[in-house]
Amino acid sequence: MQRGAMPLLINAMHNNIDKEAPMSDEADVANDNIERNRMAAIEACRRQPTLPAKGSCWFCEETLPPNHKFCDSDCASDYELEQAAWARAGRPRGPGDVYAEQ
Ligand SMILES: [Zn+2]
Repeated sequence: MQRGAMPLLINAMHNNIDKEAPMSDEADVANDNIERNRMAAIEACRRQPTLPAKGSCWFCEETLPPNHKFCDSDCASDYELEQAAWARAGRPRGPGDVYAEQ
């Protein structure tokens, strides 16, 4: 008989129960935030004249015709979300700093 295993198990179960109710609320809030961020990102991208076209997608690096910055609005908004995430992390990435560490 392994003494000590039961209290740990019970603790784990309690932790799960404690977390469950607030978790779903937080998930809803997070989803709302993601949706709001996404809309804001799309808006921000439309208003981003500084980003130069470089012959490939800024997000996925797919080769593009001249004067195109992104393959589609998904890449554009994902790029903006990524930029926002980097900014929140305190490490904003500028143009030319593409996927260096991935
Ligand atoms: Zn792309």
